[in-house]
Amino acid sequence: MTDIKELLLSRIRDVADYPEPGVLFKDITPLLADPAAFTALTDALAELTVRHGATKIVGLEARGFILGAPAAVRAGVGFIPVRKAGKLPGATLGQAYDLEYGSAEIEVHAEDLSVGDRVMVIDDVLATGGTAEASLQLIRRAGAQVAGVAVLMELSFLPGRQRLETALAGAPLEAL
Ligand code: AMP
Repeated sequence: MTDIKELLLSRIRDVADYPEPGVLFKDITPLLADPAAFTALTDALAELTVRHGATKIVGLEARGFILGAPAAVRAGVGFIPVRKAGKLPGATLGQAYDLEYGSAEIEVHAEDLSVGDRVMVIDDVLATGGTAEASLQLIRRAGAQVAGVAVLMELSFLPGRQRLETALAGAPLEAL
């Protein structure tokens, strides 16, 4: 394992049965509190953003904001928040997606994405892939291109990577 992987892994806390029984929650707050680890993560996400030619970062609420915003500043690209429905004040594009029980919806300000943008989607954890898939659909519906998805970690025992395959259409999924 590379040094950065070891550093990042050592700063992620596993919390059993949170927020409900059976879920192993990946808590990134120890990583955020450690400036060496947070800087290494920010640099790695910024490097991926530049390497894949992205012109914008979309951060997924809420931890995708914490990771995506400093990476956007470091990479010299704009940051766009994708939020849960009902939180953005302007004209929005929305995308509903299925959860295990029920459904959810995310939104983006329509004016933030346009034809010619190449977008890197950033979040902390890829689990079922539903949130990331919906964000890719939003990006394409806005006429923008998908540069890729970059997450701190992928829960490889869940089918998130497979779920994203169609929406990625050949763009990379990077899990640090
Ligand atoms: P999903 O749409 O299932 O891929 O879920 C992704 C979102 O839920 C991400 O924004 C994560 O922050 C959060 N999430 C899902 N599972 C976990 C987990 N085990 N630990 C921490 N966050 C999680």
